[in-house]
Formats: sequence, structure tokens, C-alpha cells
Amino acid sequence: MTGTVRELLQTERPTWSFEFFPPRDAAAETQLWTALRQLEQLRPSFVSVTYGAGGSTREGTVSVTERIATDTTMLPMAHLTAVDHSVTELRHMVSRLAAAGVRNLLALRGDPPGADPQAEWVSHPQGLRYAAELVELIKGIGDFSVGVAAFPERHPRSADFDSDTDMFVAKCRVGADFAITQMFFRVEDYLRLRDRVTARGCDVPVIAGVMPVTNARQISRIVQLSGQAFPVELAERFAALDGDRPEDKRAVRALGVEVATQMCRQLLDEGVPGIHFITMNRSTATREVYTNLAGADLVS
Ligand code: FAD
Repeated sequence: MTGTVRELLQTERPTWSFEFFPPRDAAAETQLWTALRQLEQLRPSFVSVTYGAGGSTREGTVSVTERIATDTTMLPMAHLTAVDHSVTELRHMVSRLAAAGVRNLLALRGDPPGADPQAEWVSHPQGLRYAAELVELIKGIGDFSVGVAAFPERHPRSADFDSDTDMFVAKCRVGADFAITQMFFRVEDYLRLRDRVTARGCDVPVIAGVMPVTNARQISRIVQLSGQAFPVELAERFAALDGDRPEDKRAVRALGVEVATQMCRQLLDEGVPGIHFITMNRSTATREVYTNLAGADLVS
């Protein structure tokens, strides 16, 4: 598939995309490729591969995006972070991705390596400090279609919504073509972010990040990793169904799919430019939401 996310977003219809992470071992690789092949049948607008904190998963981002570009019909986007990279290494990574046929990049600062995303962020001595600098670097290297992160409930390190929005708009002004949000569970949070950004005269399309909950015990991990809140009333609905029996697990999954479907419907009604699904390298829940939304006018 040719084209860029920037070009796709210029069409009238919302984009529909899926996010994967690089596998850590052979079994995870099989699971990833099974999910990718199943979701390929839905003809997504693009698929993205996250960038790890270091080591082999970083190589995995390059090899998986390269294989998506060469072996599938899907348009790949690689995430890239500034964590533990000098500017020279970042340039090299962008060149490798470009050589692999990747023209879409999500430019991120990244979280500190280790289990605690709120730990102190220390930049590489010859590296970058903020995502905006990575956007500038990538744009200076070539004609890439570059996305950035947005946070409906503001970034956990931002003191308030005003400064968070200022810094987001600054990333857009240095050349970001689009943004993708952190996963969220209240449509109002997305709409308020969109209003704040629009009020500053910024018209960069903000794609909504959606993750269907498939397991009630996932929720605390989601909160810890994303730094975003999970609505109490919704958490209680999941907790009420949770249990060890297979029917309990099925009920939790069904609720997760229902909640995600409902959110997507509302977002589409609100004219969202695209929906980006965090798949956790599994296809079933995403396919179910897609089937529920059949008839929505999505780019393919
Ligand atoms: P920035 O935009 O640099 O912002 C970080 C903080 O600094 C914010 O509080 C911002 O307001 C503030 N700030 C920005 N510029 C300035 C300035 N000039 N002066 C003062 N303050 C400033 N992480 C990964 O490790 N790998 C991934 O693949 C990955 N994918 C992601 C995909 C999406 C869609 C999202 C939403 C997040 C993803 N993340 C990923 C997580 C992300 O890296 C972290 O949330 C990180 O903490 C913030 O990255 P950022 O790009 O938003 O940073």
C-alpha cells in the first residue's frame, strides 16, 4: 500500500487503524502475525508498531514495520522515542526505517525505562528533551508524515490543562501532521481536548486512541501505564462481572466490546478524524467492535 497517514487524513472519511507491539519471543511473534493477518482482512487505513524502552524490542519495531511494508497490503507507521538515544542514533534509526519503506512516524519523547512511567526523565547527554525536538529532527531528515501524542486528560507531568495544550500546540507548530490520543474512556475528555486545541487555532487532526477492555484485571495496569484515570462507575461494572469461570471472562470481554463500540459510535457522530485501536496483539475484540460498527463510513 502506498500513501501516508497525512494524505489519508485529508480524505473526508475517518481513518481506522490498529496498534501492535514488537514480540519478545517466537510464540509472541506467531501471535502478532496471526493478529496482523486477521486484521489485514478489515483493510485498515494504517497499522502502527510501538517502540520499546530498549534492546531487542527496538530492533523488533524496525523488523516488524519493514515486514508489514513488504509482505502485507497494509500501510505501516513506526513509533519512535527519544529515550536513551543520541541525536546521531535517532538519525540512524529514522534512516533505517526510511530504507525499510516506512514513511509514517509517531514522534514521542517516551517514558523513562523501568516499571514506573512517572520516574524522573533523564535525557541522553547528546539527545533530545521533548517530542517537539524529535518532530523537527525527523522533518529535517526527509518528507515523512509525522504524528505526535495527545492526552485527553492531559499528560501526567503537565501542571494543568493550559500548559499541556500549549506544549501540544507547539509540537504541531513545528510540523506534526496529526496526533493520536492516549487511550481514554470518556468521550467528553476527547471533546474537551479538541476544543482546547481548536481554541488555539490549531487544526491538526487528533485521532482517538481506543482500547477495548478484555480483562477486568487489566484496568489497574492501564491506569498505571497511561497515567489516565478509569471511570469508577465503569470499573465497578467490570468488577461486578469478574470471576474465574469461563462465562465470567466472556461476560467481561462482551462488556469491553460493548463499551468500546458505544464510544466509537459517539466519536464518529462527533466527526472524529480517525480511530486508532490498541490491539494488544490480539484481533478478536477489535474485529468484534469493527463488526458492530459495520456501515460506518471508514477509509480503507
Ligand atoms: P512531550 O510532548 O515531550 O511531553 C512530555 C511532557 O513535557 C508533557 O507534560 C509536556 O507538556 C511537557 N513539555 C513538552 N515540551 C515542553 C517544553 N518545551 N517545556 C516544558 N515542558 C514541555 N511510549 C513509548 O515508550 N513507546 C511508544 O511506542 C509509545 N507510543 C505511544 C503512542 C501514543 C498514541 C501515546 C499517546 C503515547 C505513547 N507512548 C509511547 C507514551 C509516551 O512516550 C509518554 O506518554 C511520554 O511520557 C510523553 O511523550 P510525548 O511525546 O507526549 O512527550
